[in-house]
Amino acid sequence: MFVSRRLSLVLSQANKRQKFPRMFFMTQSASNDELIDALKRQKVVKHEDVERAMRSVDRGFYCPSNAYFDAPESIGYGATISAPHMHAYALELLRDQLKPGAKVLDVGSGSGYLTMCFAKMVGPNGKVVGIDHIPALVNSSIENVRRDCPEYLENGLIKLVAGDGRKGFLEEAPYDAIHVGAAAEEGVPPELLRQLAPKGRMIIPVGPTLVGQELEQIDKDINGHVHRKMLMGVRFVPLCDKDSQLPL
Ligand code: SAH
Repeated sequence: MFVSRRLSLVLSQANKRQKFPRMFFMTQSASNDELIDALKRQKVVKHEDVERAMRSVDRGFYCPSNAYFDAPESIGYGATISAPHMHAYALELLRDQLKPGAKVLDVGSGSGYLTMCFAKMVGPNGKVVGIDHIPALVNSSIENVRRDCPEYLENGLIKLVAGDGRKGFLEEAPYDAIHVGAAAEEGVPPELLRQLAPKGRMIIPVGPTLVGQELEQIDKDINGHVHRKMLMGVRFVPLCDKDSQLPL
């Protein structure tokens, strides 16, 4: 996610529909636990399962600098690791789907941090696929996960693949939860909708680059009907062709 890097700046512009606090000032913590403590105090982390997952994944393995600041950070190739409060929102919004044994698709998996948090939520009988279109980023996310929790790669709980996330990853579909970490300028990719399981939920930013994007929650009911809800205004890098991804 993109945000200007000034200290003490407002990180999230929220509209009236959102259930979360309206704005945040950058928290600078000295450790992963302190960061999660701060997110709890700010009521961004609300539930124990989300707290447990975020405490068990040290952001230091995934973020090259300022790992415990509540801010996005460049990871190269025009990508950023999103701010911790955005990761916490995603986990909170998807927590009903992130049950033991669930299948998850993380589109625009970047650093692999959120992919790992999803894996912690769904446990050993679940499966999480992270897909990113920059092969070098996929390789570095594999290295990050290997340093953190190598057994998750060995036992197949986490699979990190290179490809165009707009097409999903059919091989493991359908998914109980789909998270998209980049903004779909031309609307929700139909293939992602198709790969969402009945009773599944997708969280996806939709809208033009850097202005006027909305985070959307898309629920598929048991009959396959889709229900959309706008959650809040956000700013994400675009879900784009690999050759048009610009260096930051
Ligand atoms: N959620 C990740 C990264 C967010 S940045 C994290 O927090 O670490 C958005 C990511 O989306 C980038 O890594 C970018 O390479 C990826 N991306 C953009 N368009 C894509 C596409 N069409 N297919 C797959 N990945 C894409």
